[in-house]
Amino acid sequence: MHILLVEDEAKVSRFIKKGLAAEGYEVDTAADGKIGEQKARSGDFDLILLDVLLPIKDGFEVLRALRSDGVRTPILMLTARSAAEDIVQGLDHGAEDYLTKPFAFNELLARIRSILRREGRSPTIHRLADLQLNTLTRKATRSGTVIDLTAREFSLLEYLMRNSRTLVTRQQLSKEVWGFNFDPGTNIIDVYINHLRKKIDQGSEKKLIHTERGKGYYISEKDLARGSTK
Ligand code: CA
Repeated sequence: MHILLVEDEAKVSRFIKKGLAAEGYEVDTAADGKIGEQKARSGDFDLILLDVLLPIKDGFEVLRALRSDGVRTPILMLTARSAAEDIVQGLDHGAEDYLTKPFAFNELLARIRSILRREGRSPTIHRLADLQLNTLTRKATRSGTVIDLTAREFSLLEYLMRNSRTLVTRQQLSKEVWGFNFDPGTNIIDVYINHLRKKIDQGSEKKLIHTERGKGYYISEKDLARGSTK
């Protein structure tokens, strides 16, 4: 997910960029309306965060120019003015949503997710404890450190994460991850689980991948069988 942030206050811009990057978004910035518009025209963004009060060209002018030229990238307006008039103006000119400054960062994230979902651009980020999986960039991180996974390992982890805290059987995994309609009867799944466990859990205090002997596997911050937190 690639976001363009057009914001002239350096401090605010840095804060938003850092927070979004931690959520797995790739963020490009522009500090005035003119550069913001130029970057937005490259069409390389899934979403634009557009401040209203900007030097050179204000957010509304940028919004109008982009929309009248057929740039359809979803835009979330950031406005320090809470005047209803401004908001209506923004939405009238084709902004998807607006947020009044100051805002809580979680509120911004929720609005972004909601717009991307509506636009069918959902990044689908799975989280469990400090493990994060972005199914769009196909990147996994633990405590912010990127984990190098093969395509199959990623698919296996994705399936476990989608069903987190739930026991999944070998049959399920062979069908959903390998595409076999039967238990392959080999230890291939165990081998992959072991690889994954090494990459995900080794060196971490909290083990996430669990085995229920003879039944299957699950991913959870808790050992569900014994109820401990290890
Ligand atoms: Ca501003």
